[in-house]
Amino acid sequence: MPWDRVCAEAHLEELATRHDIQLIWTDKPECAYSRHRIVWIRKPYSPESYLGALHELGHVVSPRARKHEARWDRGRNKVVEYDDELLMEAAAWAWAAWHMLPELADTIPARTWKLVGGYLSGYIAQVRDQHIG
Ligand SMILES: [Zn+2]
Repeated sequence: MPWDRVCAEAHLEELATRHDIQLIWTDKPECAYSRHRIVWIRKPYSPESYLGALHELGHVVSPRARKHEARWDRGRNKVVEYDDELLMEAAAWAWAAWHMLPELADTIPARTWKLVGGYLSGYIAQVRDQHIG
């Protein structure tokens, strides 16, 4: 099955509705505001953007991926450390991987998964630098 943008877009809207998330389409960098359950995501023009959009939804839906809880609700009274950040990013990617439509998963090329691996290794490098520095 070739890449199906309409199908991917409908799936993102359905997930947002199911999880009570306000979805705002944007052309700017994507982000999630988990405290208020709002995501700004790009239309899924490609498998990459679909996966990126799922990742942002994951930041709201997955308890382990919610940054605001780590930053404020745990009562640590400080900005999260890189290892927390790494775990939250990994949790958001894991949520994305688990919640993509199976029929679209087959259209995601290996290079897209390598991109995800690249993001995660970037966070690991930050954790390393933090512990060395
Ligand atoms: Zn993220």
